[in-house]
Amino acid sequence: KFDKAELFLNGSEVADHTFGGDQTDGSFLTMFGGSSDVTASLVFAGYGIGNDGLGYDDFAALEAAGIDYSGKWVMMLADEPMKDAETSLFPTENNEVSAWTTSRFNKLRPFFQTETPPAGIFVVGDLSMRQNGSVYDAAMAGASSSAGVGSLSLEKPSGEGRGSRFPTVLNISADLANKMIASSGKTVQDVKASIDSSLKPVVFESDMSVRASVANIIVETFSENVLAFIEGSDPMLKDEYVVISSHYDHVGMNDSEEDGIFNGADDDGSGTVSVLEIAEAFQKAKNDGNGPRRSVIFLNVSGEEKGLLGSAFYTDYEPVVPLEKTVTNLNIDMIGRIDPTHPGDTDDYVYIIGSNLVSQELHDINIRVNEIIGTDLDLNERFNSKDDPNQFYRRSDHWNFGKNNIPFIFFFTGTHDDYHGVDDEPDKIEYERMARIAQVIFGTAWQVANQDTKPEVTGQGFN
Ligand SMILES: [Zn+2]
Repeated sequence: KFDKAELFLNGSEVADHTFGGDQTDGSFLTMFGGSSDVTASLVFAGYGIGNDGLGYDDFAALEAAGIDYSGKWVMMLADEPMKDAETSLFPTENNEVSAWTTSRFNKLRPFFQTETPPAGIFVVGDLSMRQNGSVYDAAMAGASSSAGVGSLSLEKPSGEGRGSRFPTVLNISADLANKMIASSGKTVQDVKASIDSSLKPVVFESDMSVRASVANIIVETFSENVLAFIEGSDPMLKDEYVVISSHYDHVGMNDSEEDGIFNGADDDGSGTVSVLEIAEAFQKAKNDGNGPRRSVIFLNVSGEEKGLLGSAFYTDYEPVVPLEKTVTNLNIDMIGRIDPTHPGDTDDYVYIIGSNLVSQELHDINIRVNEIIGTDLDLNERFNSKDDPNQFYRRSDHWNFGKNNIPFIFFFTGTHDDYHGVDDEPDKIEYERMARIAQVIFGTAWQVANQDTKPEVTGQGFN
């Protein structure tokens, strides 16, 4: 986790920050990255927005001005030009803010993925009009609720580790930013006003020598995946496995609220209890002498919310059974609520993701089961795309199976206002529909576990 950060301009210290105490003043805050100590000049890159149909491109402006940011510090404004906290000045759908505001990774990705990355990134946070769901807000919430926890990884951060592969990202106040660009004669307030009124990028270089030093403390911590196993009855097929998964971790507590417990009833209590119910049904069948031919693994993992860590540990470090013999993963993450934006005229839906993108056969089994057992759900493919901006195709534990060429279906009813909030409570769960979704998943698992051949990989493949 982060320990201490210090900032020097032209050799003199202007700010320092020790993490773990009060860290919400917002003047200087580490968002991302490992230990580093870099001295370099500075490039101001507007909002750090690349053109995606908004008619605004800071990267093109940098190129036109002949400014190269590789090896230098980049400074950018958080979020996007906005009229008020909810309304973008860009021509967006319904004037809503774009992913440049709502997704921290959207902004940082171009800098992380380039062959010639910057030395580090300063995000000017406190000029943002957003109080909720912005890049700035995410940084503040992360820092205040987790007392300086930077990130968790399965491997110890080192010179080779995740921490140092990415440039350090620091959230800074406008006051501090103005000290850093003082030699240009500009202020970030002026620059912001100019961009917001013209919707034209403002980019420039500053000759200030900027040194930021960020020190980390490495803390080792432990968690467990919980796994149950029902051995198949067929002497040949029992060495093949169906994995039904969910995650039992959630996002912890926020001590500043009276009821600050993030219950995670939907995310992913709905998945874990469904896995238990499905396991019970399989065991009952086995007790009655009708057990499945293939073996079935019920896998409730930890660390999903910290980057799919539990499932990555299972697939990348210690698969309990061979991945080559794992024929299908059915993953359940959030099937208890109604997504207010879900399409169609029925609330009896579940989003299916993966499915025919990887195996038409698995997809067809799922559809047939839904008809035969009369659960009659709308198996909705709204997010069933590799290119969907939400990236649900890769965003829960199924992806660690998918990347190993194992067919999967991810079952999900979508996000809602209480997503990752303290109000994701059990009394808001749609239990009757959740039970029917679990029945379809059971039926699909049952068919896969009992048919002669494993689901064939067709579709577009895994990538
Ligand atoms: Zn989840």
